[in-house]
Amino acid sequence: MNDFLHCREALTKFFGFESFLDHQKEIIEKILSKKNLCVVMPTGAGKSLCYQLPALLFPGYTLIVSPLIALMADQVSALNAKSIPAAFINSSIGFQEQLSALRAAEAGELKLLYIAPERLQNDIFRDFIKRCPPDMLVVDEAHCISEWGHDFRPGYRKIGIVAREAGISHICAFTATATPLVCSDIAEQLLTPDMELTAAGFRRPNLAFQVKMCEGGKETKLRIIKKLLSSAKVPTLIYAATRQAVDELSKLPGVRGYHAGMSIDERNSAQEYFMRDPAPVLAATNAFGMGIDRPDVRRVIHYQLPGSLEAYYQEAGRAGRDGEAAECILLFSFADKYVHEFLIGMNNPPPEVIRSLYRVLRREFLAGGGSNAVELTASALKNMVTGAKSDGQISAALGILEKSGAVRRLSRQNGIGEMRFTADPDKLRVLHQEEKSQRSRFIHRVCSKYKNALLKTGEYSIEELAETAGLSEEQTRRVINALSDEVLEWRAAFAGRAVELTDVDMVDPPVDDRELERRLDYELDRLEMVISYA
Ligand code: ADP
Ligand code: MG
Repeated sequence: MNDFLHCREALTKFFGFESFLDHQKEIIEKILSKKNLCVVMPTGAGKSLCYQLPALLFPGYTLIVSPLIALMADQVSALNAKSIPAAFINSSIGFQEQLSALRAAEAGELKLLYIAPERLQNDIFRDFIKRCPPDMLVVDEAHCISEWGHDFRPGYRKIGIVAREAGISHICAFTATATPLVCSDIAEQLLTPDMELTAAGFRRPNLAFQVKMCEGGKETKLRIIKKLLSSAKVPTLIYAATRQAVDELSKLPGVRGYHAGMSIDERNSAQEYFMRDPAPVLAATNAFGMGIDRPDVRRVIHYQLPGSLEAYYQEAGRAGRDGEAAECILLFSFADKYVHEFLIGMNNPPPEVIRSLYRVLRREFLAGGGSNAVELTASALKNMVTGAKSDGQISAALGILEKSGAVRRLSRQNGIGEMRFTADPDKLRVLHQEEKSQRSRFIHRVCSKYKNALLKTGEYSIEELAETAGLSEEQTRRVINALSDEVLEWRAAFAGRAVELTDVDMVDPPVDDRELERRLDYELDRLEMVISYA
């Protein structure tokens, strides 16, 4: 059958759409002819359909790597609602459910299987795709693969190798942000040198771009924002460069905040507010927005200069995805440049700091007998490393050391702590035997199990306490917080990531000064470009 007719039919039959959006048809045809593509199209351009439709026409299933757990669930339920057999596997679902998704894929009952990148490190999963490889591997939000991109996820690094192991040769990548450098990095990391770059759809005639010079600095900016917000109540996003600025902005009346320093619950609720409220105003760092699909955002205000033009286009581009008029306003003051230079400096620690950090780690590692991982927080390390400016800089330096192979960071030891009861467990047990609230249930069950041992300080994990109390880990944390200083004391143990040296005999870490310098220059150049735009 004529391929084009074929996909037009599939478009209506499976997705219920009348026609293709710009560029979808060309891309789908290329994918159907088994070309490896790196597709760069703006958010909202309809990238998902470009791989979902071919997936339905291929004989087996298509595997999609996507970084965002919440979005995966949304996409899959949207597909299922259209009776398209799709499933996802990530840490949010149980083992049995994971196995049944794999079985369905193997039995040919599944067309699309979404996974988080970490899944590719899982042996069961790797064996599975070797045994039963997908027709095509899709990497969504593919800029996460590149350290040059702004959302780098280490889990994305392994995709190329795992795909090769499994003999998958049809690989397509999709992203809304990518400079030529990021694109060539995507192809390189995916070990797919023949990947064809398709960039399209960046003209957005409905967006009005504006730069307002704010020489009075913060006061001027806040005044402008208040004025804008009172002029019209429309869905508005305000991007700021730092968490601190977001906290300040969210003190304005009617403005809520979102940044990565908030708890998951707080972030979910802010996201929910932004998606559901008729005219939300959300102040956020760039942690907010990847994959957010609210078409009627009428205004994106940048409170501070974004770090690059690409980032600006991506963030401002969240306005007016419904094609209706929308404004993108950049509030610019020259002082913003220093904020970014500072941030760039933190992300790119000088080689001396990296070497000095390595020496400190090696000393501590040897002092611990060379077998115990070093448990020091970034802020403790900062005080031990000459020239270190902030915790963030230490974390960046640790990342560089890890990438050079000199150290290994162990996974986070969350949820271990020392606990002691300050009231009599026997009496508490009797008092709370009716388990009328989560607190009572916790006290009754924990006291019944551990009894008087609770009077001495001991080590417990949230996981075991949650299991004992029959609560979720989140509930258990909340209960412990509420009971702290009332009937018990809880002190969280080291919550950072312990560090091990890979080779204690190595005196100097193999860091490449020229590479570090190149990276720093690259980021500073990008900053210059936004400044010239402003
Ligand atoms: P992207 O991943 O590029 O940001 P999505 O794939 O999430 O964009 O698609 C954005 C929106 O466009 C979705 O709501 C999707 O249902 C819609 N869409 C995609 N293709 C079409 C089409 N051919 N006709 C109408 N709507 C479409
Ligand atoms: Mg998308």
